[in-house]
Amino acid sequence: MLRSIKGRLLIWIFCSVTALFCAFGWALHLKLHYVVEDSVDRMLHASLQLVKGLVHTHDGKTIQCESNEFVHGDYVTPDSGHYYKVLIDGGLAGYSFSLVDKDFDLIPGEPLFHNAKAQEWVYQTVGPNSEPLRVIRHDFVFMDKPVRVIVAEDLTESLSMIHRLANFFLVVMPVVVFVIGLISFLIASVSLRPLELFSAALEKISHKNLEERIEPSRQAAELQRLAAKFNALLERLHQAFEAEKNLLGNAAHELKTPLAVIRAECDIALMKPRSAEEHQDSLQEIRSVSESMLDQVNGLLTLARLDSGMLDASAFQPVSLEDCIADAVRLADPLAVKKNVLLSTSLNGGGLMVAGDKEMLTEALLNLIENAVKYNHPGGFVSVELCWREGRAEIVVSDTGIGISEEDKDRIFDRFYRAASARSMEGSGLGLSIVKAVMQAHHGEIHAEAQSGGGSRFVLSLPLAAAA
Ligand code: ADP
Repeated sequence: MLRSIKGRLLIWIFCSVTALFCAFGWALHLKLHYVVEDSVDRMLHASLQLVKGLVHTHDGKTIQCESNEFVHGDYVTPDSGHYYKVLIDGGLAGYSFSLVDKDFDLIPGEPLFHNAKAQEWVYQTVGPNSEPLRVIRHDFVFMDKPVRVIVAEDLTESLSMIHRLANFFLVVMPVVVFVIGLISFLIASVSLRPLELFSAALEKISHKNLEERIEPSRQAAELQRLAAKFNALLERLHQAFEAEKNLLGNAAHELKTPLAVIRAECDIALMKPRSAEEHQDSLQEIRSVSESMLDQVNGLLTLARLDSGMLDASAFQPVSLEDCIADAVRLADPLAVKKNVLLSTSLNGGGLMVAGDKEMLTEALLNLIENAVKYNHPGGFVSVELCWREGRAEIVVSDTGIGISEEDKDRIFDRFYRAASARSMEGSGLGLSIVKAVMQAHHGEIHAEAQSGGGSRFVLSLPLAAAA
């Protein structure tokens, strides 16, 4: 239950309202107690003034405490619950008839408090009939004699009223708690309804209809941002799914042709007895087609690894771009010699370092240089330049080859895309996609441009490694 928001909401509302109800009941109880005691104290104060009036003198020499018609009232019967006592000079001078045992001590213990304004001491004790008593004591001097007046009042009636209220609370408590529980459940259900609607809308979306979106304006205000974030997530998922589907389709398509060639070669070889040379030719053809397939499969594997975050920025090391260029040029040299293309380098960014993966950066540069050689004319040129530009390292690979049309210059970075002018040459259409993925993993950028005098330029820009 604690794991569900509804359960938690229910518990919170239930506990807080129940605690509020109990606190209210308790405060009411205390207030009532205070009001009752206060009214008893006022009554006792009035009675004390009357009893005080009983103390008088006839001759101006002796003090007396006389009962008058007042004592025939409440203070007569033993179970009346009203008592008084008057002590003059320490001796008992008068007491109510209700006090059967005139020596009964009405103030046996410590007073509860002192009422400074009225000069009275207030006690709470047990009366002669074992009843709870509220007692007040007033001391004064009359004709140079200390006089003490004690008045007491039975609290049974008043306390029973308070107890009745407490009992009432105890009886209605279970009903109130049940009602609070019900209301809490309703509030929790109503509050979570938008969330349920939201999840119902989400449940309708599966891999089959990833293009569907949640309508933010139809959600509760608090869920609108969440809906927008979900839509963005769905959009990314949709694109990734589409890219995956396209890649799979393209890969199948690209591999189908060489496989068909291999099968055709085998069919021809098996059709009738062949000479050793003919078998040799067939095997040569199969080998060359298999090699191009292997290139494609390797390219796909590299892309898949790059997509799944093979290049982890936290594992990057400082890499010298000069070293990468030198390695890539060395590896591309045999192809350049074979195609009679002149390779040159211009390294003006002496000592430029980036944080990265040396192997993959070299691989990316090799791809660009091999392309520049491959799509070049015999006797052409390829130059690789390195320089510092606006706080970044810039590498430009330019060639004097077949060039790139305006409409192709962005598309050539798509997986399997090959410009029409390049289709007669061998290639997988994956090299530039790998270069782009390597650049992205290094927070770098790449773009292609056609050169005005023919040929193409590939410009790479990489952030420099932070100085140690
Ligand atoms: P591949 O070279 O195997 O076809 P790439 O991904 O390396 O695959 O290149 C994609 C396409 O970009 C090539 O087919 C070609 O049309 C074009 N391209 C790449 N480099 C050059 C270049 N230096 N000059 C002209 N076209 C190029």
